[in-house]
Amino acid sequence: MTKPQFDVAIVGAGFAGIYLLYRCRQLGLTAHVWEAGGGVGGTWYWNRYPGARCDIESMQYSYQFDQDLQQEWDWSERYSPQPEILRYAEHVAERHNLLDGITFNRRVATACYDEQDSTWTLASEDGAELTARVCVMATGCLSKPNWPDINGLGSFQGEVHHTALWPHTGVDFTNKRVAVIGTGSSAIQSIPLIAQDAADLTVFQRTPNYSIPAHNAPMDPQYAADIKANYAEMRARAKQSVPGIYGRYNPDSAMAASAEERHAEFERRWQEGGLLFMGAYGDLMFDQAANDSLVAFVHDKIRGILNDPDVAEKLCPKNIIGGKRLCVDTNYYATYNRDHVHLVDLSETPISTVNATGVNVGDTQYDVDIIVIATGFDAMTGALTSIDIRGRGDASLGERWRDGPSSYLGLAMADFPNLFTVTGPGSPSVFTNMLPTIEQHVEWITDCIMHMNRGDYHAIEATKDAEEAWWNHVQEVGQLGLKQSTDSWYMGANVAGKARVFMPYYGGFPAYCQKCEEVVGNGYEGFVLS
Ligand code: FAD
Ligand code: NAP
Repeated sequence: MTKPQFDVAIVGAGFAGIYLLYRCRQLGLTAHVWEAGGGVGGTWYWNRYPGARCDIESMQYSYQFDQDLQQEWDWSERYSPQPEILRYAEHVAERHNLLDGITFNRRVATACYDEQDSTWTLASEDGAELTARVCVMATGCLSKPNWPDINGLGSFQGEVHHTALWPHTGVDFTNKRVAVIGTGSSAIQSIPLIAQDAADLTVFQRTPNYSIPAHNAPMDPQYAADIKANYAEMRARAKQSVPGIYGRYNPDSAMAASAEERHAEFERRWQEGGLLFMGAYGDLMFDQAANDSLVAFVHDKIRGILNDPDVAEKLCPKNIIGGKRLCVDTNYYATYNRDHVHLVDLSETPISTVNATGVNVGDTQYDVDIIVIATGFDAMTGALTSIDIRGRGDASLGERWRDGPSSYLGLAMADFPNLFTVTGPGSPSVFTNMLPTIEQHVEWITDCIMHMNRGDYHAIEATKDAEEAWWNHVQEVGQLGLKQSTDSWYMGANVAGKARVFMPYYGGFPAYCQKCEEVVGNGYEGFVLS
């Protein structure tokens, strides 16, 4: 029997991989991380476009496992910018001496399970190998960029930059004519800042998105001090909320309130800004009339900001609010009032080609110097299926998931023993504040490995029945309410040819945590330990 080099092999050094390595070491497990990027931080290493920042307040979008760090670290803004979040990730890695456990610039190409000795062997694109008893994929939900299939994109003679692969040296938009393709969160954050520098900016919009003002500001020292004084309590209360975010959620029914009361509540939330806008009433995602009332409110806001009524109509989304991830912005809508900013509506005529000098829509050619691709990610599954993962009997995860993923708790899959995923499909992940979700997964996985060690088990595997039952539950819950009425990346609709399956768990963070605890309490119910 070959001896594993490590107890645990970890793929990815974002917030999940960093905490995994830390926790493994704390528990006396040997572990090593392979990371495709040149540094830690994951999302915050790659997405360096102008305006990139978190949309969950920094006092919450941060680790809680290190109490001292939580007290010592000072966030500069309500929603801190990407460079600061990246510095934070780097600081955590340095503070806990984790860097010697990470190999950077190493992309995993294959991961194969050896049934004889119950180990995983990873092979990288550059030919290196790593063997471990357990493999944890901390590869991220939003880490594989989605490139649009546009004819001639490769022939463009100017610069082309995907927001998720942004050059570390930055991009100089001064006096440049710029095209932005896409109007999701990445575009909505970057467009106002690109417009500040560019000579001319044309935004190519296929579907408008709802965006709520961030009202970002320098961190109020009193606010930060108050939270720090009660951090544990705030974190505990956040865990009791469906999205894992501490805040004011009104459980009442929207339509039970009068039109004036509803308007006042929406207005209060608009003035506060941020994602808690959707917390105005408990049934906004379940009652069509309630959702319609919020849609009407936001449409009025958009119309009130825009000088040109035609542009305003194009920016008003026609689908429900909350179907796609809500965006949080600074000056997004107002940017279209600037004379050098233009909106091209692709809803009826898509981009036909890109040629050497610009973008073609119908008979119109838009000559530009720089194209910004803000077309998002092959979310939830893309990073995993990009690796050739082979389990028991040479089972291929990519083939298994061809018609859509399935997983037990978003943590493990039948036929793939000793393989775990952090925030995999079937976990609440992208419907929550991801940092607490990541911490919960990492703790569950590492506790499980310790349980294996204590019992001298060499392998753990989800059963097909447990996986199927959980996945059916994920699908049932995904059909509740209005969410599934909108095509979104949550269901793979943004990637050509990708199976349409509701991927994240919509039942909320508390219900999910309870299920995970029950599984453990019942002796790792739904798993076979051998
Ligand atoms: P990631 O940060 O994605 O890290 C995964 C790492 O795995 C990457 O570094 C990648 O290079 C590496 N990797 C992948 N495949 C391989 C391979 N084959 N070999 C080697 N390495 C590999 N969530 C929130 O809750 N709040 C927010 O405000 C928020 N803002 C966001 C803003 C942006 C622009 C984006 C894109 C996402 C945002 N998210 C937000 C989601 C964000 O992805 C998570 O919050 C969190 O950072 C994910 O951490 P992670 O470690 O799980 O994954
Ligand atoms: P996204 O939400 O998927 O948006 C991609 C945009 O590109 C959509 O407007 C999409 O239009 C458009 N698009 C795709 N292919 C196109 C094509 N061929 N032609 C024209 N338009 C095309 O991606 P994202 O903005 O990168 O955000 C992804 C997720 O990352 C977010 O939902 C969020 O979870 C996270 N994120 C968070 C923040 C933050 O505020 N902290 C910032 C960025 C990202 P359709 O809608 O028609 O498909």
